[in-house]
Amino acid sequence: MSLFLRLLFRNKLAGFGAVVLGIIVVLALLTPILPLHPPNETNTANRFLRPLSEGHLLGTDHLGRDLLSRLMWGTRLSLAVGFAAALVAGLLGAAIGVMAGYFGGRTDNVTMRGIDMLMAFPYILLALAIVAVLGPGLLNALIAVAVVNIPFFARNIRGVTVGIAHREFIDAAKLAGMGHTRILLTEVVPNIVPVVVIAMSTTIGWMILETAGLSFLGLGSQPPQADLGSMLGEARSALITAPHTSIVPGVMILLIVMSVNLLGDGIRDALDPRLRSGALSRPMATTRVERTEATAPKGEGLLRIDDLETQFHVGPRIYKAVNKVSLDLKPGECLGLIGESGSGKSVTALSVMGLVASPPGVITGGAVRLEGQDLIGAPYELLRSLRGRKVAYIFQDPLSTLHPLYRIGDQLIEAIRVHEPVSHAEAHKRAVKLLEDVRIPNAQARARAYPHELSGGMRQRVGIAMAMANDPDIIIADEPTTALDVTVQAQILALLDDLRRSRGLAILFITHDFGVVGQLCDRVAVMYGGRIVETGPTPEVLAAPAHPYTKRLIACVPELGGGRRVLAAIPGLPPAVDKLPEGCAFAPRCDKAQAACRQGEIRLTGTAREVRCLYPERAT
Ligand code: ADP
Ligand code: MG
Repeated sequence: MSLFLRLLFRNKLAGFGAVVLGIIVVLALLTPILPLHPPNETNTANRFLRPLSEGHLLGTDHLGRDLLSRLMWGTRLSLAVGFAAALVAGLLGAAIGVMAGYFGGRTDNVTMRGIDMLMAFPYILLALAIVAVLGPGLLNALIAVAVVNIPFFARNIRGVTVGIAHREFIDAAKLAGMGHTRILLTEVVPNIVPVVVIAMSTTIGWMILETAGLSFLGLGSQPPQADLGSMLGEARSALITAPHTSIVPGVMILLIVMSVNLLGDGIRDALDPRLRSGALSRPMATTRVERTEATAPKGEGLLRIDDLETQFHVGPRIYKAVNKVSLDLKPGECLGLIGESGSGKSVTALSVMGLVASPPGVITGGAVRLEGQDLIGAPYELLRSLRGRKVAYIFQDPLSTLHPLYRIGDQLIEAIRVHEPVSHAEAHKRAVKLLEDVRIPNAQARARAYPHELSGGMRQRVGIAMAMANDPDIIIADEPTTALDVTVQAQILALLDDLRRSRGLAILFITHDFGVVGQLCDRVAVMYGGRIVETGPTPEVLAAPAHPYTKRLIACVPELGGGRRVLAAIPGLPPAVDKLPEGCAFAPRCDKAQAACRQGEIRLTGTAREVRCLYPERAT
């Protein structure tokens, strides 16, 4: 709740709306005990007194009634009717929507066609028709406004419900033997409450306006009872001679509707879970950089990462996802970056091209140099021209990175034409050639397929083709084979290896599987808790791991025909990167850890083989 309020008030306008609305509501609640004239007391001797007259702060109307008093009582009534109408419309509409969405089939068809019929009439016309049938009166106006708004809620909520009615957790509840009522109440409704609240908070303003509109036309509150709409209606004939009688209720309507809408927007933003983790803003085009100065380059290399630090600043917590990581990649080389899930591999990879989402991501130190040029804090246009052209990415799940509605050929063509102004026909030819290069059989025909028509392995081949589209120098592959089965994985690895040799590509290959590293990579860097703990040429590291963590990781890989051997899992969990322990981050899980391992900074030592450990394993 306090988080909700904090998020809400971070939005200044919503805070302003809340304060204004709060004052109005409190005044409306206090109206009966305020020292006001009776609202309906007429005094024709004092007609149309100007504001600030004696005894009448806001003046009087055409019957000499005190405007301040009528304004307060009218506000009270208008607010009550508006909120009541919103509540009725919201609850009834949501109930209809949930039923239609959850049960589907005929229930859905019948109710939704009924709702569609209501929606076919213009708002105000329908409300007028309802009041005409029921007869004028405030209660009938309330009913009319509520009924007119039910379709809006029902449609909205039905859509949301359809979206979750077939999700796995609902199926699980059904399989557990729960009845419909129980599922609706405990599984469906909690998921739609935020949507109902949001819809209500953004429509209350409208409903207050609509009620005022009906009263203005004389169909809502009946004389002498005041509400804001009827006050406006009565003042209309004196608009020129005594404008204050119109302005007073008009300004109040403006204030109410404006503050309700501002507050409603704020509530919507604060309730949206996607907006919660970051600030209430969209991610920036490149990662935020807060770095005092670039680390000096420690050597040559096509791509050099020097002491890179990437953090996530979430509220008061700081997650050190990448903590002084240094890597280098030479032309044509394949470097493996390996570590358990959560060790910071993906964040390292995304930092290279400034692709970490900000907020909450911040690059706080280090340097990333591509052919000597520092990319940290580089202007967006430079990064954009390099993304895909010099450095391309391949991700784990091609189904989520390919656009589901475009043919794969068109997506390849788009990737090519982002960086090169070639004709469509020329790009198409190159796209087909790319598909052939990644060994997709019958490429000409396959280019016309949609992503969902391909198998996982095929899709990953398309992902590789996309990455190759602009003949990059470097490919960063983030667990490209993790979602594939072993035989397809072997094919993809062979393909990447071929492409690397034939085109002189450098590859940064991210994985959690030492078996994969052994097949593809020249060198390997082992990452744990956001830091590099060991680097070296793959055969040497595989034959004689120096860091206990590396040794345990290698022990996790099964060997075919390797005889009977216990596959050792590593006990415990990787550390949370916002509360890293002092000393070696692996110490709590390491069976060789000594007291010295738990204090101070443990440095990466060595040259070609580096290791961050006080008691490294000895070669056997
Ligand atoms: P992996 O090695 O599995 O690719 P990641 O690089 O994705 O790991 O994540 C590294 C660490 O960064 C994780 O511990 C994760 O908790 C943290 N992290 C990633 N994204 C965010 C985020 N948006 N907010 C806070 N922490 C994050
Ligand atoms: Mg990852």
